[in-house]
Amino acid sequence: MPIDPRAPYDPNNIFAKILRGEIPCKKVYEDDFSLAFHDINPQAPVHLLVIPKGAYVSWDDFSEKAPAEEIAGFIRAVGQVAREAGLVDPGYRMLANVGGHGHQEVPHLHVHLFGGRQFYAMVP
Ligand code: C5P
Repeated sequence: MPIDPRAPYDPNNIFAKILRGEIPCKKVYEDDFSLAFHDINPQAPVHLLVIPKGAYVSWDDFSEKAPAEEIAGFIRAVGQVAREAGLVDPGYRMLANVGGHGHQEVPHLHVHLFGGRQFYAMVP
C-alpha cells in the first residue's frame, strides 16, 4: 500500500529498523549520513537502495527540512554507491517514489539505483 504522504515519520518503519540494526540488510555502503543496501526484491540485475540516516519520510520532506550538510552528503553518497557498484559505465537508472501517486511503500526516503541491463524510455 502506498504511504500517506502527510503522515508523521513512523520510527518503526522497516528502514528505521534496518538503520537501528533490528533487521538485517545486505549493506554495500555506509557513511555519516547515508546507508545503502541491496533491495530485498530486485527489479534488475543490480537494485540498490540508498537511504539517509535522518528521519525523513520522503524526498519532499528531506528537501524541505534536512540541513544542507545532510542533503549534500546524501547526494554524494548516491553517486558514490553507483560508482562503487560499477554502474556509471554503461549507465544506470535512479528513482525515488514520493507519496501516494508515486506509489511509495516504505515511509523513509530511499533512492533506488537500478543497473546491469538496458532500460528504456520511461512510461508515465
Ligand atoms: O519506492 P518504494 O517504497 O515502493 O520501494 C520500497 C522498496 O523497499 C521495494 O523495492 C522493496 O523491495 C524494498 N524493501 C527492502 N527490504 C525490506 C522491505 C522493502 O529492500 N525489508
